[in-house]
Amino acid sequence: MELDAISIEQRDEQDQLAHLQQFFSLPDDVIYLDGNSLGALPKSVSAALTNAVEEQWGKSLIKGWNCHNWIDLPSKVGDRIAKLVGADEGTLVCADSTSLNVFKVLATAIKMRPSRKVILSDTGNFPTDLYMAQGLKGLVSEDLELRLVAPEDVENALDESVAVMMLTEVDYRTGRKHNMKELTEKAHAVGALAMWDLCHSAGAFPVHLKAAEADFAVGCSYKYLNGGPGAPAFVYVAPQHKNAAGNPLTGWMGHSAPFAFDLGYEPSAKTDQMRVGTPQVLAMTALDAALDVFDQTSLEALQAKSIELSELFISEVKRRCPSLELASPTDPYKRGSQVSFCHEHGYAIMQALIDHGVIGDFRAPNIIRFGFAPLYLTYANIVKAAEILGEIIAGNLWDTPAYHRKSKVT
Ligand SMILES: *Cc1c(COP(=O)(O)O)cnc(C)c1O
Repeated sequence: MELDAISIEQRDEQDQLAHLQQFFSLPDDVIYLDGNSLGALPKSVSAALTNAVEEQWGKSLIKGWNCHNWIDLPSKVGDRIAKLVGADEGTLVCADSTSLNVFKVLATAIKMRPSRKVILSDTGNFPTDLYMAQGLKGLVSEDLELRLVAPEDVENALDESVAVMMLTEVDYRTGRKHNMKELTEKAHAVGALAMWDLCHSAGAFPVHLKAAEADFAVGCSYKYLNGGPGAPAFVYVAPQHKNAAGNPLTGWMGHSAPFAFDLGYEPSAKTDQMRVGTPQVLAMTALDAALDVFDQTSLEALQAKSIELSELFISEVKRRCPSLELASPTDPYKRGSQVSFCHEHGYAIMQALIDHGVIGDFRAPNIIRFGFAPLYLTYANIVKAAEILGEIIAGNLWDTPAYHRKSKVT
């Protein structure tokens, strides 16, 4: 035990990313293992928001659109995110929510494959993506089919009826990671388009949208990118589709000349065509500031530490909590930056854990989920979290009525 403790201390001392912790504001009595759901607060955000509100909005008023360049925030912030997901400058904009961006991209993709009627996805996809596809059915065509298969069957389900393969790279429950490059290649081989949801990828590990030849991508910025609750999402369009693509939500900010106030819609020739209405300036300012910390490290370094943290957590939890069953792939390269376990009383266990200062979350029906954000976690955090989890399970501390009561958000 003594030896273990020393080696953990040494790992923290030798951690090349340890200096990044100071850029985050976290309560002292909390170990935060939910950065995969809502990233922690970067200290730079408060100052940026105060400045945007008091100096920019307060003093410049409407002049801010030009003098503080608010109007270009979607492409400016988009270019910063593009760098983190292996996309070229000018191919990604920050706008709206992930759900809305899924809708725009799906409708566009279906238009690009008019003779095909199938959206192919898997049962591990996040429900909102599937719901958006279902909403398109009545709108675009009654023949449209959302074909759902098990994640491991996607490859075999690709055929010439598929217009677009819509997948989330990392499964929100298990953390299982699809092979983006391989599946995109298979989709293209049958003439289908490939759309990737990067909600659990962006900011967590290197993503190579361009190298994988993805056609479209969407993602949110409040998880590993730390943009804050409800932060605006992003949408990527491969350069070769810029003209073919057509955002069905034809708002003025996607127009080629919004301030010409023409009566007819003319899409922008740039990725800006994926924009709809007025950008959320305050939220985008917060996100812009949150992204600063990524200039100080690389996604390769973040992934390497994430793997060490998650492997350490799995081995500590295995040792202390034999009743928890690992729900994530054991190969760290086949999962995102999260680890999940199954337990029939998972909900109550997670509530007890949160009450004891370790924040993770619960996903129905029986998954407890832990995210590893290497920007602000230490190795000692991981060991301590596993120790507390072990005590809660060994002592049945979760088994009280208060911990069984379900909240609106789990
Ligand atoms: C978090 C998440 C979303 C969230 O969509 P919103 O529109 O931001 O609510 C969508 N897709 C996936 C895969 C997610 O993990």
